[in-house]
Amino acid sequence: MTRQTTIPDAASAIRAAGLRVTDSRRAVYDALAVRPHASADDVYACVAPIVPRTSRQSVYNALGDFADAGLVRRIEPAGRPMLFELRVADNHHHLVCTSCGRVEDVDCTVGHAPCLHPSETHGFDVAAAEVTFWGRCATCTASA
Ligand SMILES: [Zn+2]
Ligand SMILES: [Zn+2]
Repeated sequence: MTRQTTIPDAASAIRAAGLRVTDSRRAVYDALAVRPHASADDVYACVAPIVPRTSRQSVYNALGDFADAGLVRRIEPAGRPMLFELRVADNHHHLVCTSCGRVEDVDCTVGHAPCLHPSETHGFDVAAAEVTFWGRCATCTASA
């Protein structure tokens, strides 16, 4: 299954998630549209020049509200800052470069969640699996 992610415009996506549309929230959404897997600080750096009166805290709050509303997904590679992306609910996984921190999406080869099944579920109804593949990206491998 190949998947084309179409990103709706910020205002309608925010409204559809049941949130009030503000300049900060729109700018946060737009920042994630052009820069997937951004940290909160990355997002703030994109938003600050566009919405000068915004604060780091309001960007953090917007990201938290988006995540709670299911508009963004948080990913937390071990030992890295939390990252945010607009691709939600498609059970994709991530490749993370141990050297430069680059993050790439990997579509799930099986297609639907959970694509991996634990050897022991302990009675859990397993809904999702999140895989992080760690390694060195092509650029880092070439420069080694
Ligand atoms: Zn790298
Ligand atoms: Zn991703």
